[in-house]
Amino acid sequence: MGIEAQFQKVEEKLYQNRYLVDAGQPHIKIAPHEKPSKNLLAMTHLCPAGCYTEAESGQVELAADGCLECGTCRVLCEESGEITWNYPRGGYGILFKFG
Ligand code: SF4
Repeated sequence: MGIEAQFQKVEEKLYQNRYLVDAGQPHIKIAPHEKPSKNLLAMTHLCPAGCYTEAESGQVELAADGCLECGTCRVLCEESGEITWNYPRGGYGILFKFG
């Protein structure tokens, strides 16, 4: 087996997952804010699924579709009230069974 086959890129591995969207019921919500905290802004680089983005206005936006439920944003931003975090409802969210 070649080294390329052993070490897939993160994007290739994420492609193995499936995500069932719970339309209109995001399991993570971001609180309205004027300027994001350092931790919230950091999520635009730390979220492995790329759910957090920085808008032109400087505010941080969240699209929870594709969330891997890793909990990084929960640890960094939930206690401060910047986000509310729950697991998706049963049957929705990430499916890891493909790899
Ligand atoms: S739980 Fe992990 S994957 Fe999901 S939005 Fe937070 S940092 Fe991203």
